[in-house]
Amino acid sequence: MEVLHIKNYEKTGVLSIRNLRLPTDDQLKKGVAIIECVQEIPCNPCVAVCPVNVISMEGINDLPKVDFNKCTSCRQCVGICPGLAIFVVKVKEEKALITLPYEFLPIPKVGDIVTALDREGNSKGDAKVVKVNQKEKTIVITIEVSKDLAMKVRNIRV
Ligand code: SF4
Ligand code: SF4
Repeated sequence: MEVLHIKNYEKTGVLSIRNLRLPTDDQLKKGVAIIECVQEIPCNPCVAVCPVNVISMEGINDLPKVDFNKCTSCRQCVGICPGLAIFVVKVKEEKALITLPYEFLPIPKVGDIVTALDREGNSKGDAKVVKVNQKEKTIVITIEVSKDLAMKVRNIRV
């Protein structure tokens, strides 16, 4: 079945949640990096940037894996990934904080209300911007949405 899902991704360019290794509810409460990287290409800046060495890869062409129990949700891997494929998700009571990479204009400000988008670009309603880090070329933005959208929202429209 997994092969079928990856084939579907190759056809549509849109990942399904079934393509991913998923954290448990407890790991989501702690906050974890979720890597949505499915192409086996020579790339590993995510492995190099992690300050606690919890992203592993068997070979340079293999897919990275996060040790969800040891990830500190520091967010450093989000902005370094050239494929914009890493997200940090933390569930807190009825809300989810989703940290995502962003490379469009205009850049939102903390407190702005933006449109939350799923992997296909469909609107999932409003999201509040709670953090904006513009230090690198890829801006790293944290939004707050309802808990049920934790594994669905992966982009924003400003
Ligand atoms: S969020 Fe921080 S600790 Fe977790 S995988 Fe990314 S760089 Fe490592
Ligand atoms: S940096 Fe991004 S694209 Fe490269 S291996 Fe890591 S997750 Fe995949």
